[in-house]
Amino acid sequence: MRLIILGPPGAGKGTQAERITESRGVPHISTGDIFRDNIRRETPLGKQVKGILDAGGYVTDEITNQIVADRLAEDDAQSGFLLDGYPRTVIQVEALDALLSGWGHQLDAVLELQVDEQELVARLVKRAETSGRTDDTEDVIRERQRIYREETAPLVRIYSERNVVVPIDGVGDLDQVTARISAALDGLTSA
Ligand code: ADP
Repeated sequence: MRLIILGPPGAGKGTQAERITESRGVPHISTGDIFRDNIRRETPLGKQVKGILDAGGYVTDEITNQIVADRLAEDDAQSGFLLDGYPRTVIQVEALDALLSGWGHQLDAVLELQVDEQELVARLVKRAETSGRTDDTEDVIRERQRIYREETAPLVRIYSERNVVVPIDGVGDLDQVTARISAALDGLTSA
């Protein structure tokens, strides 16, 4: 299965992605995790992107596309993957299209986790108390929501036109949301 999970910051993408990839046996590829890992290890890439992540901005498409191209070329991603946090811009959609079509592969679905903004900010402010993430402050959270609305929400339209979007209600407890995603994926494979 080749999947994308899309949704605003705080929608619970990371947690759900973890669960889905475990049950479906495909790698969870999170660009946010890759960047944070590089920052922690103080690699050249980490040093380059730290300020951007701290401010809630987007890393350049050039850097991000390269990282994903390298990751998707690894062995464990050949039979499937779940992309979490990528693509986030129209340029990234185009880069992913080129990559997949070069390999003769297609996306099976774009899972769109839907949660309204008030609920999101409340969740993130709460997460900030325990996450230690330097981008989990209220100002940065609002900035990330704004950028998401402007840059990433339009991607839903692009993928909708290709009939690959599967909307998922992201409000409820974690297990409920996981069950919804699971049912949607079962529907895909049996269709
Ligand atoms: P969240 O979903 O909570 O916003 P992520 O872990 O997906 O968090 O991303 C954290 C940060 O990493 C983003 O705010 C951005 O700075 C950077 N980032 C992650 N993915 C991308 C991407 N596809 N393009 C540009 N920047 C990205």
